[in-house]
Amino acid sequence: MEEVDFLQNTSVVSTSFQDSDAQENILRPKFLKDFQGQDKIKENLGIFIEAAKKRGEALDHVFIIGPPGLGKTTLASIVANEMGSEIRMTSAPALDKPKDLAGILTNVTANSVFFIDEIHRLKPALEEMLYIAMEDFEIDWVIGQGPSARTMRIPIPHFTLIGATTKAGMVSSPLQTRFGINCRIDFYDEKELSNIIRRSAGIVEVEIEDSAVDLLAKCSRGTPRIANRLLRRFRDFAEVKANGVITDDVVYHSIRNLGIDLNGLEEQDRNILRTIIEFYGGGPVGADTLSISVGEAIESLEDFYEPYLIQKGYLKRTPRGRMVTAKAYELLHLEDKMPQMTRFDESPQGTLF
Ligand code: ADP
Repeated sequence: MEEVDFLQNTSVVSTSFQDSDAQENILRPKFLKDFQGQDKIKENLGIFIEAAKKRGEALDHVFIIGPPGLGKTTLASIVANEMGSEIRMTSAPALDKPKDLAGILTNVTANSVFFIDEIHRLKPALEEMLYIAMEDFEIDWVIGQGPSARTMRIPIPHFTLIGATTKAGMVSSPLQTRFGINCRIDFYDEKELSNIIRRSAGIVEVEIEDSAVDLLAKCSRGTPRIANRLLRRFRDFAEVKANGVITDDVVYHSIRNLGIDLNGLEEQDRNILRTIIEFYGGGPVGADTLSISVGEAIESLEDFYEPYLIQKGYLKRTPRGRMVTAKAYELLHLEDKMPQMTRFDESPQGTLF
């Protein structure tokens, strides 16, 4: 069928994690029981998966929201493993033309998982195609041009779309409402991170003292990906400086060298707060201006740095821009620059994403 050549076009899709960090994949939990924390999400997903399997149906479409490194991709692959089905993975920026998406949708198998990362970046024409695929399990394909053009409806197998985003606010509501299951992943607490670190240390076979696990958990920004990365860096320090065992001393030495503090804040976090205080009188300052001032891409400022600074109570997003809190002045020992207003206005920010 020459006209519908997209059927063979699967170059933008991957059925494994081969394109990403191989070391990270070794540590990726494969089943719900190994996925630490996020108990409500795990419990609900476990029930929905079991019910779908009992009925022999595809799981309803799943929408996963949360900052980078909290387990969105991991959760998608777990859903596929728990369903005993295959997974195809792509990210919205890799889908350029309708035929890219059509190529994948016509190749999905029944009850399998199709994962689209960064779904907020999906182009409108592709979003339209996805609506029909999600709801009717069909795609509309226009063949030919001009007066002789005709639309072909192609049926596709029932599949589960898992869409992940760091920016729920940027996903259109027609798309959002087509997902039957919503999962909002939050930062992990220190106990959950300690469990993740112990599990990872076992897998990469490095000895780590209990107190060092707790310290590492504190420095991990509530984020498993960072916990795992730091663990690998600390293992390097331990192998070179401390007979291979990660002790408290190894942690203190390593975080000093890496510019991280015991709150998990990096040099750039402190730079962002300092810039708002010293150049913008504590704020408000717009994200675009701030991103230029600190030399950080707006995406990483909004997706990576700000959510954690907000969660830790150093920063606030207001309708007029970003503002630091009294806690930020104290962190940087810049209390003398603190305006009177900031001292009294310390209501914590609720919504992060
Ligand atoms: P995201 O897709 O949200 O950016 P990932 O799913 O790629 O994040 O997770 C990053 C890494 O963190 C993975 O390699 C995985 O090992 C680890 N990880 C994430 N969430 C968990 C969890 N709940 N339990 C154990 N490890 C986790």
